[in-house]
Amino acid sequence: MELNFEAADIAFRDEVRDFFAGSIPEDWRTRVRAGLRLNPEELIHYQKMLAERGWGAPTWPVEYGGTGWSPVQQYIFWSEAARADAPAQFHQGLELIGPIIFTYGTPEQKDKYLPRIISADDWWCQGYSEPGAGSDLAALKTTAIKDGDHYVLNGQKMWTSYAHVASHVFVLARSSQEEKRQRGISLLLLDMESPGITVRKIPTMDEKYHTNDMFLDNVRVPVENLIGEEGRGWEYGKVLLDRERMVTASVAIFLKQTISAIRSAAARRVIGNVPLIEQPGFRGKLAQFEIEVMALQTMVLRLMADAANGAESGSRGSMVKLRWSQLTQEGTALWVEALGPEAMHFEAMEGEAAGLPSLPADMPYAMQGALYARVTSIYGGSSEIQHDIIARRAFGL
Ligand SMILES: Cc1cc2nc3c(=O)[nH]c(=O)nc-3n(C[C@H](O)[C@H](O)[C@H](O)COP(=O)(O)OP(=O)(O)OC[C@H]3O[C@@H](n4cnc5c(N)ncnc54)[C@H](O)[C@@H]3O)c2cc1C
Repeated sequence: MELNFEAADIAFRDEVRDFFAGSIPEDWRTRVRAGLRLNPEELIHYQKMLAERGWGAPTWPVEYGGTGWSPVQQYIFWSEAARADAPAQFHQGLELIGPIIFTYGTPEQKDKYLPRIISADDWWCQGYSEPGAGSDLAALKTTAIKDGDHYVLNGQKMWTSYAHVASHVFVLARSSQEEKRQRGISLLLLDMESPGITVRKIPTMDEKYHTNDMFLDNVRVPVENLIGEEGRGWEYGKVLLDRERMVTASVAIFLKQTISAIRSAAARRVIGNVPLIEQPGFRGKLAQFEIEVMALQTMVLRLMADAANGAESGSRGSMVKLRWSQLTQEGTALWVEALGPEAMHFEAMEGEAAGLPSLPADMPYAMQGALYARVTSIYGGSSEIQHDIIARRAFGL
């Protein structure tokens, strides 16, 4: 989608375009084009590269080390990243706990944690969900009992993505038993090296490890690691969930990468002497997909502009999350269709841990991407929950 930018925005776009042209290694591009996530070391390297350029935190205010960019600049930055086959930045520190720390944290917490999020010296993961507490998060059972100048945490977290590589985790835990379930939940910052934390990997159906069980057994957390007030974690957590939906706004811009992947696959695949891209049935599907992506991106821009003016995302955060998850699933499925049998190529699970050699550009892992894309309608609040929010907030049902 091309927008009518002001001259200053065009100059900014050219600057960002030059940066990406000169700084993304070819094997990263190849792997992003192939539908693979970069491994944690590479994502850390990428984040450090952006931080050195002063672009580590595109959505943060300048006073906390962010860029202070306008929504249009953020949009341009993400569009150019997508255009250059750069990866999306890892978001759990940058977009989830970082903003909570700069909004509700103490000066000491801000000084200690924020610069290390931007420089990728710390890698954060999110410890909210538990067995029996996902959509119904207020049912969480992990306890945080005060003992002198520490909280002692016990319980089980589930689906803690990237806990196996993270240095820190932010956890919602019950610090007192109140009648109203949302009360008495506190938000705490934990060092993953703390004694008593055990992480067990959960393989997903794309045959990779993204996520984990995390067991907390008498984990002692200093009281200075409490965010805001004790017992008010639910309020902070809710702000964060709202922001998590906004995060999908940035990722939605990366759907452009799926469009180019589908295009090039469909141009290469010839069925009955006619390239797939020239066959009316397939062309129609691809055109429809592109239109839907454009519509979503327009919505994303509006949401970003309103957020910059202080408006809450309301139900529109949920709409964007819902549409992004649907289009991610539809896009990866269309990519599989475009590739045909070639889509069945699988990257071994061990490969991710061991570090992969460069892959030829014609070896896309589309099926693996399509399988993992199933998760987009579950995490960050399932589609049913988003429908429910839209029904209540937008239609007052
Ligand atoms: C791969 C993966 C990675 C994840 N990463 C993280 C992470 O890093 N950190 C973290 O804290 N969590 C993470 N999650 C957890 C995720 O947020 C939850 O799985 C999600 O919120 C759903 O909760 P649940 O799994 O307990 O399912 P449930 O809440 O039990 O839902 C089961 C089904 O019932 C439906 N349902 C539930 N309640 C309602 C309702 N009120 N109305 C209509 N339908 C309803 C749901 O939509 C779903 O289809 C991850 C999950 C996955 C699968």
